[in-house]
Amino acid sequence: MNTSPITDEDERLIADARAILAKYYKPGKHHVGAVIRTKAGQIFTAVHLEANVGRVAVCAEAIALGKAISEGESMFDTIVAVRRPAEAASHAEIAIVSPCGICRELLSDYGADMRVIFVEGGEVKKCGVLDLLPGKYTRGAEDTPTLTAES
Ligand SMILES: [Zn+2]
Repeated sequence: MNTSPITDEDERLIADARAILAKYYKPGKHHVGAVIRTKAGQIFTAVHLEANVGRVAVCAEAIALGKAISEGESMFDTIVAVRRPAEAASHAEIAIVSPCGICRELLSDYGADMRVIFVEGGEVKKCGVLDLLPGKYTRGAEDTPTLTAES
């Protein structure tokens, strides 16, 4: 997997994700936050929506992406999500989480060259979303994601 170093800009993105979750954290409702940065540098934040019927829950990454797209954005640079564990005593335990499989699919549909900040083996890393999704599902050759310029 091709990973790249976490930059100061990425550290700010992580801080923004922690801040949005700390602000709107609500047990059983919102315990994941996400921030997406566009290639133009715009930032969109979100918290996830938990639901009594679990499969209706919506991930924070999907909401952040949807907010950005709803504001006319289509070029995405980097996304990060954070989570506060249910048993956490405070916001100090908010930590970076890797996107779920469904989000990997969704993010790669809208930004095949998007970078994702995630954690592996306790180490914060950044890679392309398709590096997290080998053998991505497609409906045919016309849907096969193609990478644009390397970021
Ligand atoms: Zn997800």
